[in-house]
Amino acid sequence: MVESRRIRIKTNGNSEITDITGRVAREIDDSSIENGIATVFAVGSTAGIATIEYESGLMADFRSSWDRLVPANMDYQHNRAWGDGNGHSHVRASILGSSLTVPFTEKRMLLGTWQQIVCVDFDNRPRSREIVVQIIGE
Ligand code: ZN
Repeated sequence: MVESRRIRIKTNGNSEITDITGRVAREIDDSSIENGIATVFAVGSTAGIATIEYESGLMADFRSSWDRLVPANMDYQHNRAWGDGNGHSHVRASILGSSLTVPFTEKRMLLGTWQQIVCVDFDNRPRSREIVVQIIGE
């Protein structure tokens, strides 16, 4: 069986990290599927999905790591073509990846205690985001 569900969040962009673990758990709970996998997919080309220990120090570390890996203040051809200044946002989102698959049994995701599911919004402005939760199982 397959069930497709949607989560909507508002973000401030600029690598803001939103913990969506509880929201994903609720969608699995509300589905008719007991055992399977949930694919969590961020719609759009400037956001990504990951797991992380959702703790303030690591949030800061994660964000500053992106500033070092893919700096915003470089010359991006995307910015020259489109003028929206978010070339770095697209590159970061592509590197992180737009989806994550989490197994669950008896409606409980098999996550570690310190492993949360997050949406990272790399865009350079506030956004309203849609996240698809595709639940597959029986
Ligand atoms: Zn763009």
